[in-house]
Amino acid sequence: MVLTDPIPPKQRLPTFLESKPTTTQAPVSSVTSRVNLLDFDEAGLRAFFESIGEKSFRAQQVLKWVFHHAETDIGAMTDLGIALREKLKSIAEIKLPEILREQRSSDGTVKWLIGFQGGNAVETVYIPEPKRGTLCVSSQVGCALNCSFCSTGAQGFARNLTCSEIIGQVWLAAQTLGHERHGERRITNIVMMGMGEPLLNFDAVVSAMSLMRNDLGFGFGAKRVTLSTAGLIPGINRLRDTIDVALAVSLHSPLDDVRTELVPLNRKYPIAELMQACRDYVSEKHKRSVTFEYTLIDGVNDHPEHAHKLVKLLRRLPSKLNLIPFNPFPGTKYRCSSQERITEFQEIVMRGGLIATVRKTRGEDIDAACGQLVGKVEDRTKRSERIKMQMAKKTP
Ligand code: SAH
Repeated sequence: MVLTDPIPPKQRLPTFLESKPTTTQAPVSSVTSRVNLLDFDEAGLRAFFESIGEKSFRAQQVLKWVFHHAETDIGAMTDLGIALREKLKSIAEIKLPEILREQRSSDGTVKWLIGFQGGNAVETVYIPEPKRGTLCVSSQVGCALNCSFCSTGAQGFARNLTCSEIIGQVWLAAQTLGHERHGERRITNIVMMGMGEPLLNFDAVVSAMSLMRNDLGFGFGAKRVTLSTAGLIPGINRLRDTIDVALAVSLHSPLDDVRTELVPLNRKYPIAELMQACRDYVSEKHKRSVTFEYTLIDGVNDHPEHAHKLVKLLRRLPSKLNLIPFNPFPGTKYRCSSQERITEFQEIVMRGGLIATVRKTRGEDIDAACGQLVGKVEDRTKRSERIKMQMAKKTP
């Protein structure tokens, strides 16, 4: 049971989960009422140019300016012709979010607080390693899934991000890091593992990932863009048929009762059905595999018996296991597993034939680790208040 939440989990789930994944993608900015061209992927941008009586290849030119030359001033896009530039400027704009704060960890990790129109903000994290650089991108302001061990969930949910707000995080990070200066790519991988459940913001996330993949955009390979989900089965099935990216699934337990305590979504989409969706995902395309994330929490899901059950569950599926030591945050009742337990757990699953790595905690001094991203959420679900009240009640 989730001690920090006074509302029984059963009553928490249904309302939004009954509805299909939605998007608040709003290409027209409410303040300027100009279309933000960053809200379109290539297909959308082509359709936009056709809708205003222009040739669709203009989309390619604009994308190159924005992503290859980092040019966001329509007036400077010289191959568009003066008349077209004037016309575009009157109806469209290229609007990025804003970096509100940048923090650099002693281990090289960088965390940005990125602000949007209306006062909300999310966090985006860059994690450099010797042979790669991973950018962790957010998909929603807050999260509605209430996973009991995640601090983002404790803040409640405000809204979905638009495509421009998602791809804007990558654009800003690339610019700040000097992404391709001297031909060297600072960002080699993108993971949709920041704040939010990406499959509950399907359309905007897919458009943004399409720009990450597109050679006219950032040009990342299919295995270098990963979407991580808490296990929204209809979303996984839809993703399988929509875009070629890598899939990560937050599993955290091979047992339904334990998983439901950690990820309440499991009540609606239990493990057996989730595994079927994963099998379907990998069978769709040769060489696809799924990464399973498993946060190790002391006394909750780190018993050797859990490791053996996990082996049985995953051994036939082309997959990798990512073991994440739990990162504590203020107000949590959970603790990280001991180093011995983590090592023992990894040894058991590896002996069982799984490929398992233990993720190193990075950016600890700037709270940039998994589940520690908070941003600025105009909380509409008020779970955070409920937790505060509960905490106050517990204090003698
Ligand atoms: N909603 C998506 C992506 C966001 S979380 C998902 O659930 O996959 C990214 C990963 O960090 C998930 O595997 C999540 O379960 C894990 N995580 C969340 N809080 C954590 C914490 N406090 N310590 C360690 N991992 C955590």
